[in-house]
Amino acid sequence: MNSLLLTGGRVIDPANHFDAVADLLIRDGKIAALGADAARQAPAQTERLDVNGLVVCPGLIDLHVHLREPGHTAKETIATGTAAAARGGFTSVVCMPNTSPVIDNAGTVALIRERAAREGVVNVFVAGTISKNIAGEELASIGSLKQAGVVAITDDGHCVQNNELMRRALEYAKMFDLPVMDHCQDYSLVTDGMMHEGYWSTALGLRGWPAAGEEMIVARNILLAELTGVSVHCQHLSAAGSVKLLREAKKRGLPISGEACPHHFTLTDAAVAGSEKFWAEDGKSLLSTLDPRPSTLPSWPAYDTNFKMNPPLRSARDREAILEGLADGTIEILASDHAPHCNFEKEVEFDYAPFGITGLETELALALMQLYHAKRLSLSDLIAKYTVAPAKLLRLAKGTLSVGADADVTVFDPNREWVFDRDTTASKSFNNPFYGWPLKGRAVATIIGGKKVWVKETDLIHA
Ligand SMILES: [Zn+2]
Repeated sequence: MNSLLLTGGRVIDPANHFDAVADLLIRDGKIAALGADAARQAPAQTERLDVNGLVVCPGLIDLHVHLREPGHTAKETIATGTAAAARGGFTSVVCMPNTSPVIDNAGTVALIRERAAREGVVNVFVAGTISKNIAGEELASIGSLKQAGVVAITDDGHCVQNNELMRRALEYAKMFDLPVMDHCQDYSLVTDGMMHEGYWSTALGLRGWPAAGEEMIVARNILLAELTGVSVHCQHLSAAGSVKLLREAKKRGLPISGEACPHHFTLTDAAVAGSEKFWAEDGKSLLSTLDPRPSTLPSWPAYDTNFKMNPPLRSARDREAILEGLADGTIEILASDHAPHCNFEKEVEFDYAPFGITGLETELALALMQLYHAKRLSLSDLIAKYTVAPAKLLRLAKGTLSVGADADVTVFDPNREWVFDRDTTASKSFNNPFYGWPLKGRAVATIIGGKKVWVKETDLIHA
């Protein structure tokens, strides 16, 4: 029998509206007791961890991660991607289906689940595609994907342009009780846009990716949700107009949801013009929660491809709207869109570089800084967006510390200041814009099924 007692931590379980200093007992991979009873019920040989001063919460879930396996293992593997997740405090990830081959059939789902069971450090849930080969032309075999164990369908990285096909995808998904997630991008508006269409795209001479290119599909999804009664989850929202559309649709009671990623609510398109331009204007407020404020600011050149993602970094007004959407509950889920790419792929002209950055190891800190330390959200409301909310969307029996639940637990220090160092990343790729940034808030222990899969020893006291 295996048991672990976490003592003296601030336990926050949004699913049960619990927030208090309490002991937590884990036994045989399950949550066994919480509060005064926990220590009393602990068997004699129980391992104890003193987590005084730290936050103990349900294991964090990131429902938008590219693990790149099969097919793109030079960028990332299930082993390295899940190791990065554990370091970031995540106990479960959902891997996106734009692999090679794409996850549009039961065989590929089985391959990933087998490999994840063998090599994965954290729980891996699989998303299948909406369309065959992510081509947007005919539906994938949604029933057999469900049977093979996918938790959602999405053509992420791509977007189904044919509205009739999307409607049928929703109707099929309903029959199989599968959530549908959508990467919102209207191809005819976006064409080969490289960055947010605005002042900086003009100044830098880069082709613009207009906000309307996202908003158009968010509006489409709202209309289809209304038509079919089936819920649609809009992935990585970046534009103010998307937040407004979502807010109005929710007011009307429509089944629609959204997620936001730290880069979109931290950075702006000015970052593509280089660090000086960014810190001069849009970056000013960013480090105000650090004490003392850093004497030197991170620097990078113009056209740095680590600031190229899809959807792109947008204006300061858009960034504010995403933050407001998170604060008022319009956007209920946080995710990274962890998208590793090789150095040789990113070390090219801005036009030729692939979209995307890694994010599993920095997202908790950036979310804490911009939402909790900046006083936009309580710790409990922030944790909910990484636990109970994604679990509910995906119908996962995760995201809670209820007695009897799987003992997936994250321990983190919301106030720990640290610097993200290129040499310490567990990801196979290095395409991240936040190296050298002073960050605040860090995972200290990641526990899955009662087992410590990652611990930052220096930050823990063994009793
Ligand atoms: Zn995407």
